[in-house]
Amino acid sequence: METLRFLTPELARSLRDDFGTPLYVYDLGSLRQQAETALAFPNAYGLTVRFAMKAAPNAAILQVFNRMGLHIDASSGFEVRRALAAGVPADHISLSSQEMPDDFAELFETGIRFNACSLNQLTRFGRLFPGGRCGIRFNPGLGSGGTGKTNVGGPHSSFGIWHEWAPQVEEIAVEHELVIERIHTHIGSGSDPAVWEKVSGMSLDLVRRFTSVTTLNLGGGFKVGRMASEVSTDLQTVGLPVKAAFEKLAEETGREIRLEIEPGTFLVANACSLLSTAQDIVATGGEQAMNFIKLDAGMTEILRPSLYAAQQPIIVIPEEDSNEEKDYLVVGHCCESGDILTPAPDDPEKLLPRPLAGAKPGDLVVIEGAGAYCSSMSAKNYNSFPEAAEVLVDEKQVGHLIRQRQALEQIFQNEVPYKES
Ligand SMILES: *Cc1c(COP(=O)(O)O)cnc(C)c1O
Repeated sequence: METLRFLTPELARSLRDDFGTPLYVYDLGSLRQQAETALAFPNAYGLTVRFAMKAAPNAAILQVFNRMGLHIDASSGFEVRRALAAGVPADHISLSSQEMPDDFAELFETGIRFNACSLNQLTRFGRLFPGGRCGIRFNPGLGSGGTGKTNVGGPHSSFGIWHEWAPQVEEIAVEHELVIERIHTHIGSGSDPAVWEKVSGMSLDLVRRFTSVTTLNLGGGFKVGRMASEVSTDLQTVGLPVKAAFEKLAEETGREIRLEIEPGTFLVANACSLLSTAQDIVATGGEQAMNFIKLDAGMTEILRPSLYAAQQPIIVIPEEDSNEEKDYLVVGHCCESGDILTPAPDDPEKLLPRPLAGAKPGDLVVIEGAGAYCSSMSAKNYNSFPEAAEVLVDEKQVGHLIRQRQALEQIFQNEVPYKES
């Protein structure tokens, strides 16, 4: 059975009493520790660590990382605005997006960095800022992700410019006198360390080709084990051969290339627990009889199990001590059959009962590993459930509210009544 990460039953109960459930609980110590580990990534000629903010964009989290010297990777113009609003300096924000924002010119003039992610984006940038400096996100032809859906490299991925289109990139750059100062690749979330290393080598080949490049950004995608049985990537292990490759390039060409990495998952995944309350315990009968725990949370707080069959640790904290253990399917509160927290691994179509402590209605149920792509990627407001509150627990185990629970009125405040004439 899985165990609690940074919470204790006492702290979980006191946070519930103070803030209610469902509640995202972030741990300051864990956030800082992961950031320190990322900042120690092996490098030869300088390192910038960017937090891929789409993983957990709460301003309080951005500020914790900003104060530690991390920069930001933004995936949309709106994320850029959000980071600016949180107080991140513009020149610490890099934009790599599928959609080029309508207000791009205004955003770029604030001083942000930009990676063109398609030939069309590069042409548009060239027209707006002839002679300008930018990066190029390439699809190196190879990808790897924890699941097929989180693989963002290779011929079946739309992310970045296909590596064989480098000549077209050069043509557009020449036409608009652009300076390509960065090569960027990001091949997937939860990627295989061996593939990550291979792609680093392929990315360095692109650096050789584009002689004005001074920085190589290798993206994020470091695998993080959420379940006790899953392994996490060791950054020193993946980083050391990459460092050696940078040194080799410098020996051969005299070019000392700066390294950027931009982890999302690695920095936040295990730094947050989703605290929920068992609303009901039900059972079915017959040959395939099953026990269920129904939570007051679900796809409105954590979509990864439904979307990717992602496995998240689940811990029942019984109000009364007991040694009872039972197999349960854990389900969310939405009237939606896909709202499940115990999918079979690698198959969102199937369910797999989990051995958990015997649960009663009212017991706390903690879902661990809820820091990355949970609060930020939820089926928000489905069934009109309000967005959950978020707290940050400091070194003294004090919980600070960093996002209020949404009020019902906020769910429909933008609706405009239609008056029949
Ligand atoms: C999402 C994303 C990341 C972060 O990926 P993780 O798997 O969460 O580390 C980094 N770079 C880019 C461009 C991304 O889109």
